[in-house]
Amino acid sequence: MKILGIETSCDETAAAVVEDGRRALSDVVATQIELHRRWGGVVPELASRNHVMQVLPVVDEALTRAGVSPAELDGLAVTSGPGLIGALLVGVQVAKALAAAWEKPLARVNHLEGHLVASFLAERPPEFPFLGLVVSGGHTSLYAAEGFGRYRLLGATRDDAAGEAFDKGAKLLGLPYPGGIAIDRLAKEGDAAAVRFPRAIVRGSELDFSFSGLKTALLHHVRRHGVPEGKGLADLCASYQEAIVGALVHKLFRAARTYQFRRVVLSGGVAANSRLRAAVAARAAEYEDLEVFLPAPRLCTDNAAMIAVAGTHALERGEREGPGLHADAGWRL
Ligand code: ATP
Ligand code: MG
Ligand code: FE
Repeated sequence: MKILGIETSCDETAAAVVEDGRRALSDVVATQIELHRRWGGVVPELASRNHVMQVLPVVDEALTRAGVSPAELDGLAVTSGPGLIGALLVGVQVAKALAAAWEKPLARVNHLEGHLVASFLAERPPEFPFLGLVVSGGHTSLYAAEGFGRYRLLGATRDDAAGEAFDKGAKLLGLPYPGGIAIDRLAKEGDAAAVRFPRAIVRGSELDFSFSGLKTALLHHVRRHGVPEGKGLADLCASYQEAIVGALVHKLFRAARTYQFRRVVLSGGVAANSRLRAAVAARAAEYEDLEVFLPAPRLCTDNAAMIAVAGTHALERGEREGPGLHADAGWRL
């Protein structure tokens, strides 16, 4: 079964062909990072306009690289939410038009499910059930994944997402967008114990996250001491990063213990963070019966191959979308 996936929920225009929900025959991502950098973040209107220009060439490229003609496709899958409404609409309209023109079935995919199942494209895929942590620019959520299309939310951030904490923190420090990558790189030369940041206590649910206080703490630190240079900046980045990673690891393993999961799967852009990957692997090694799945960084950030994986299983379940499919910017998984 060969499925074409299309993804335009934020600032990546992506298309991919995936076979049997397991192998990416192509995986094309046109990122708009450079376009948005001068504004220090994603500008929704610019993102939509750029998706319009990029989406058909990207789809073409995905088919060409896969060596698959439209007639050979078994179906299409598109991200219809959550995300920026104008950006989502581009992918949804194009997918509907192509599905109608090529007379192929179309599935809608939740972007977060895409992240959760990206690891099925890895050489060693996980099995269900697993504990999934989606940690990205807009989300920080823990899910019990019971099967394709079957997810239960166990905890989420009350305010900022972890990726947002990276991006906003980086902005305060005058680092380029996207901040996660810049902080990750600088932190490698820094001392994570140099500056003490608070660890948020979230009342009510033990598996919820909160990152807005951390961002405020960094703001106060910078107001008091200014933005340091050289080693001082590296130390500050390493300390700030450690606070984010510490909170993620703490809740992740608390959930794994509470619900007795034997598999933990990470996904989303922040799962590309080198310190988070090392910390999760080190912590998992303390457990006898806990396997960790860390997809390659390229699979962690936005791509359409993960959308095609989720779409393959949606189509197998018989889900079909028609011309009435709408983008749903706030679609909850
Ligand atoms: P969502 O998936 O919630 O809709 P999104 O699609 O914008 O949001 P992704 O593309 O999955 O998010 O991830 C982008 C985020 O990942 C950004 O916040 C970016 O700073 C962060 N990120 C990317 N690489 C790293 C890294 N190495 N370390 C930390 N954060 C990173
Ligand atoms: Mg993105
Ligand atoms: Fe994403």
